[in-house]
Amino acid sequence: MGKPFASSADLGEKTETLETLAEGVHALTAEGDPNVGAVEGEDFLVCIEARATPAAGRAWLDKLRTVTDKPVKYLVLTHYHAVRVLGAAAFGAEEIIASDATKRLINERGRQDWDSEYGRMPRLFKDPDEIRGLTHPTRTFADRLDIPLGGDRGNLELHFCGRGHTAGDIVAWHPKSKTLYAGDLVEAEAALYTGDAFHFDWAGDTLDRVKAFRSENLIGGRGAVARGTQATDAAIEQTREFLKGMLDNVGDVHKRGGTLKEAFEKTHAALAPKFGRWPIFEHCLPFDVQRVWDEYEGTDWPRIWTMERDREVWAQLQD
Ligand SMILES: [Zn+2]
Repeated sequence: MGKPFASSADLGEKTETLETLAEGVHALTAEGDPNVGAVEGEDFLVCIEARATPAAGRAWLDKLRTVTDKPVKYLVLTHYHAVRVLGAAAFGAEEIIASDATKRLINERGRQDWDSEYGRMPRLFKDPDEIRGLTHPTRTFADRLDIPLGGDRGNLELHFCGRGHTAGDIVAWHPKSKTLYAGDLVEAEAALYTGDAFHFDWAGDTLDRVKAFRSENLIGGRGAVARGTQATDAAIEQTREFLKGMLDNVGDVHKRGGTLKEAFEKTHAALAPKFGRWPIFEHCLPFDVQRVWDEYEGTDWPRIWTMERDREVWAQLQD
């Protein structure tokens, strides 16, 4: 009897925590479930991430309504993954903003990703029948887009920092409060999902650019808010250590002509002592190792995950 597929057996609700990090700067974390955020403009809101379904999005908005009743003008999507975008209809935003590369990925593989993520993490898909279709951005950009917040609130800056967790991740930076919403480019004591990633870029220049903001509040994709530059640096360096651990171990096996299964077992043994208890470690590692392996094989653009391919890789590596 193998391990239950991905997070399919993870059915326990998490405790959610809404924190106001500075005037008008909010984050909701949930013990390792995907984080969301919101930044207040003078008379509007910018919401960051949409969750997996409209019902899940509404549940977040209900909590946000305890601190502000401003309408949502902008919905920012850090990347294309279904559990972060398919709840968009709940927000009634005037604009849905993402990177050019994220738009490309939604068009190319959004449908397959929806099916794949639903199979892997069914608990996050509250009332899945409400999803009316893929979420498409209404405004995209290549490198940088600033949203003026009005009054003396400054701007919310959206930056593409290079390829990382996907080809199109962006971060949202609020200079006035030194708050960085990093999406899945940084995780705080949660395992990394890297099945669509560019490990070499991410572990190098991309994380260097994320670190260069010198953020004092960092909201990663999963896990608690990091507060203070020591903690934000630590979250970034933990992320890099996880990536390098995979690159080194998979790389060793690949170089000596070993198999994917050997690469998985070596990487699991090396990472489990430090990272094995973090949320979604067992779920992610087979998909992660497969993608690292593909990069060593010279496959630059990530292969598309489908429900069938998910099950094949799981059966080969984790069963
Ligand atoms: Zn993601």
